[in-house]
Amino acid sequence: MAEAEVQTIQRVGAEPFDVYSIRERFPALKREVYGRALVYLDNAATSQKPQDVIERVTRYYTEENSNVHRGVHYLSQLATDAYEAARARIAGFIDAESAKQTIFTRGTTEAINIVASTFGRERVGRGDQVLISEMEHHSNIVPWQMLCESVDAELKVIPISDEGEIVYDDFERMLSGRVKILAIPHVSNTLGTINPIKEMIRDAHAFGIPVLIDGAQAVPHMQVDVQDIDCDFYCFSSHKMFGPTGMGILYGKADHLENMPPHQGGGDMIETVTFRETTYNDLPHRFEAGTPNIAGGIGFGAAVDFMVATGLQAIAAHEHEILEYATARLQEIDGVRIYGTAPDKASVISFLVDDVHPYDAGTILDRLGIAVRTGHHCTQPLMQRLGVPGTVRASFALYNTREDVDALIEGVKKVKEMFA
Ligand code: PMP
Repeated sequence: MAEAEVQTIQRVGAEPFDVYSIRERFPALKREVYGRALVYLDNAATSQKPQDVIERVTRYYTEENSNVHRGVHYLSQLATDAYEAARARIAGFIDAESAKQTIFTRGTTEAINIVASTFGRERVGRGDQVLISEMEHHSNIVPWQMLCESVDAELKVIPISDEGEIVYDDFERMLSGRVKILAIPHVSNTLGTINPIKEMIRDAHAFGIPVLIDGAQAVPHMQVDVQDIDCDFYCFSSHKMFGPTGMGILYGKADHLENMPPHQGGGDMIETVTFRETTYNDLPHRFEAGTPNIAGGIGFGAAVDFMVATGLQAIAAHEHEILEYATARLQEIDGVRIYGTAPDKASVISFLVDDVHPYDAGTILDRLGIAVRTGHHCTQPLMQRLGVPGTVRASFALYNTREDVDALIEGVKKVKEMFA
């Protein structure tokens, strides 16, 4: 089976960054809800899709549809080439050493579960510890909790400050030979905090602790270089970065992946099968049993091409400006409390308005055409730490504008008025 090499990625956009022409490429942003222009501020949950991705997926189903890896016929070759070329570009996007180290998964959740149930199972034993933080998404809690329960190990939680940052002294004190895995988010989906993962990985490695990074909220917003940060595993989802749903990546260091047992058996992950025994396929296929989400993989590749053409530095700079503007304008409103005030943040603002329940605030905003997320954002333990039932979360992507922020501010003022 031919393997595509990693494709080196240009970090500078092909054209100058113009948010208004970028918006033109997203059909969903042109629609109305309740007779009003949609203001889409729920990007941390999932992003909208550009025409480039929609057309690429349509082209696959229209012209190339066939199963991958198994056929010598024309269409099967086309589909396999497109799928593997997408993998190679995604590998280049995160600076992976090899395309074999980028395993297609259903998303971040599945990627973390694979590591917990294979690498984790083999490495963590009775009395050992797995280290996570107080700001975790449930996806980076529950798989480790399940692992710890099954082997009688301990799940330890690094505290965060009131600003929403890892308490670094506590983190350092918690490192020891008993810790067998550290699993932390690159960026918090609720607070927006960008964690100092490079330093954390370096400090964990000094104790021989491998590190998994939940990158679901980082990759859509910033340049990630897995070799530079030196993580052992990095997990992310296509649908948060303008690609199809049901698709993601587990990146791992070659040593780890080569020694991990497969988590599922079936077609594609095998080399030979007899009723007596099975030998397994090479990476990455060993972890990709069954017919994969071919359209999803090809669409994911198109999403990466779109981000690269837009320019990763330009995306980060634009989103930073929108975040600063939105933060300043929200802070002008009496009674708005922002949760997550770390100096280093990506484009997420969680807040509450007076004592209005987040669900009520979200419902009023919705009627004004403004899509925000309300609730615990799959971070219930973090909500307990913050002492709130939930928050309203506005999260920005490369296509959001100052006008979107202005609409949010008017909406929040309306919420205040209605509950005054
Ligand atoms: N981790 C973080 C930080 C997230 O924000 C999310 C998605 N909300 C996930 C993990 C899970 O991603 P997915 O649902 O795509 O598997």
